[in-house]
Amino acid sequence: MRLILLGPPGAGKGTQAQRLIAKHGIVQLSTGDMLRAAVAAGTPVGLRAKSIMDRGELVPDDVVVAIIAERIDRPDAKRGFVLDGFPRTVPQSEALDRLLAERGLRLDAVIELKVDEGILLRRIEKRIAEMAARGEKARADDNPDVLKGRLAAYRTQTAPLAGYYASKGMLKSVDGMAPIDKVAAAIDLHLAPAGPLRGKVAKPRKAGAAKRSKRTARKGSARRKRPVTAAKRGKKRPGQRKNRTRRRLTRA
Ligand code: ADP
Repeated sequence: MRLILLGPPGAGKGTQAQRLIAKHGIVQLSTGDMLRAAVAAGTPVGLRAKSIMDRGELVPDDVVVAIIAERIDRPDAKRGFVLDGFPRTVPQSEALDRLLAERGLRLDAVIELKVDEGILLRRIEKRIAEMAARGEKARADDNPDVLKGRLAAYRTQTAPLAGYYASKGMLKSVDGMAPIDKVAAAIDLHLAPAGPLRGKVAKPRKAGAAKRSKRTARKGSARRKRPVTAAKRGKKRPGQRKNRTRRRLTRA
């Protein structure tokens, strides 16, 4: 299974990604985590990305596309992956389309976590305060000012991806403000295999079609299962009851 989780910072992508990788045996590919690892390791990519990330801006497309291209070729990504934080711009989506096409792979769905920005800002500010209270070091870009910039970057550069994937018929939106288990259930419903019992609610069928198929089924089985009986040929089998013969005659 190959998925994209789309949503602004703090929408709950990481939480849902963790659940999805456990459920489907796939890997989480978070460009944010990969870039932070590169910064920590002091690689050339990390050195290039650090100040951009600290300002809450987006790292150049070619950098993240190269990281993802290398990552999806690793053996652990063969069973599938959930992309978290990538793609973040339309050119990144187009690059992803090319990467997948070259490998003969396709995406199963793009899950958009829809959230209210005002509530989101308060949610993340609370998270930052809680981390500080526990004595944990917050991310360099986890401060209210940078956060506003990250939200703005999402609005202008990433939100248009919803339209991009909607036009391909791949976008599945869920209410990201609902409790975690409700969000999870909504995602699962979107990923359930299509069929008449999908989500336990049968698709409405055309009344005529249902009637026709019932009648056809009855006729068909009557023809198959009831060969010409002795009663129909006018002969009585020994010990045959009268009323039973009559019932058979009427039904045949
Ligand atoms: P957030 O919590 O804001 O969604 P992430 O952990 O996904 O943050 O990313 C942190 C930072 O890493 C971003 O603000 C950005 O600078 C950089 N980054 C991560 N993914 C991408 C990407 N796909 N394209 C450009 N920059 C990215």
